[in-house]
Amino acid sequence: MYEVKIIARTVLPVKLNQELIVVVDDIRIDGMGIVYVTAKYPLYVADALPGEKVHLLVTQVDKFSGYAKVLDRLESSDKRQNSDRQYLIDAGTAPLVNLKYDAQLELKQAQVKRLFENQHIDVSVDRTIGMDNPTYYRNKTIVPVKWQNDHLTSGFYKRGTHDLVPMDDYFVNDAKIDQAIIVVRNILEKYDITAFDPDLERGAIRYIMIRRGYYSHELMVVLVSNEEVISHETEIITDIRNQLTELKSLILNYSPKKDYVLLSPNNRTLWGEKAIYDTLLGYEFIIGPNSFYQVNPQTTEVLYDLAAQKADLKPTDTIIDAYSGIGTIGISVASRVKKVLGVEVVPGAVADAQLNLQVNNISNAEYILADAPVQFKKWQEQGLKPDVVFVDPPRRGLTTSLINATTDMSPEKIVYISCNPVTLSRDAVEIIENGYHIDGSVLPVDQFPQTSHVESITVFRKD
Ligand code: SAH
Repeated sequence: MYEVKIIARTVLPVKLNQELIVVVDDIRIDGMGIVYVTAKYPLYVADALPGEKVHLLVTQVDKFSGYAKVLDRLESSDKRQNSDRQYLIDAGTAPLVNLKYDAQLELKQAQVKRLFENQHIDVSVDRTIGMDNPTYYRNKTIVPVKWQNDHLTSGFYKRGTHDLVPMDDYFVNDAKIDQAIIVVRNILEKYDITAFDPDLERGAIRYIMIRRGYYSHELMVVLVSNEEVISHETEIITDIRNQLTELKSLILNYSPKKDYVLLSPNNRTLWGEKAIYDTLLGYEFIIGPNSFYQVNPQTTEVLYDLAAQKADLKPTDTIIDAYSGIGTIGISVASRVKKVLGVEVVPGAVADAQLNLQVNNISNAEYILADAPVQFKKWQEQGLKPDVVFVDPPRRGLTTSLINATTDMSPEKIVYISCNPVTLSRDAVEIIENGYHIDGSVLPVDQFPQTSHVESITVFRKD
């Protein structure tokens, strides 16, 4: 006997390959335009700004939303600028590049505002602080390499594919970093070094990572390799040294694909130092290959300075610097307070933080290697009473346990530096429920011009 199954099909409002002429309704924070075909069915469209009249081709149809591409732009937004850099949109590395910079700043402010509103939190959000020159700002990049058409190519994987889009001008990196990528890539090509092939899961070099000190001009090159040793190491070292005069540190990071996403902790110094130095707010910082260090040194100084101002620190204060990286926030405010306690989970970063204390002659700070929520619980159980708690978590934000431990310690202020307004606004609900309110307005600072990332500072004060 056969059982007849009747599958209820939802009738979708668009079909694959359908063409439409529509006006773009909105913009998603990742820079994609949104066209509501019906109130509940959006189409996402790259490089389409609100108000623009566009001729679209539907390229993907899913159950709740779809994708389309612009065939023709019939009316342009006055917020559009032609950057002549369409490849950055295709690669997804600078999705806002065709949006005028003022409009990028407005978009980020509106995004933060909207996310707080969605959580029913009424707060004013300041105008985003931007850069005078919002290009070529990054002090670090990591790019994949691949042999294509008999050349070692560096660039970016086209979203969701294994096609490497060659790229020489990344537009957001320090121009010296872009040059260094080309130099290193050409040297690897000269010695016929294999590149890791993501389809075959074979080959050596996976990425080239470059860091350059904004003030120091010290250059670090990291070859991220799927193999522990690469051929022609001596010749490669000599060539890189000869061609990159700013080189201070050349490292091979052995990172087998099955174990690691990008870098592993396995570093072998091929030449020079294990780390480079740079300066931030007048303090010196040692930065190792695995340590997080803010990628926009110019706006980071503004960000930390404003965070410290908003914290209104006193010489009697004990402060916590959580998710501390190499100790940048704590070290930059240590001279204004009585005691700094830092916590960070990456061993290399904590080691760098401890060195940074010595280098800057700071004796009232301590950096602890631990998972932040675990350490907060410990501090709370020990009866620690900090005056100000700085948190600067990764994109996933805080945990309930960390929030509860924080508010149980009852600091006067919690200064939340966030790189993701989605988790910030979510966490704000819990912090407020635990007896805090937002003090003043939320301040977005544009750490990542041309991209959709949004950084901001929020101060919570005890009710
Ligand atoms: N405050 C630093 C680093 C911010 S980035 C700066 O501005 O430079 C976030 C940091 O949180 C990273 O260094 C990351 O390694 C660290 N981190 C991530 N998860 C953590 C956890 N569970 N506990 C402690 N630190 C963590």
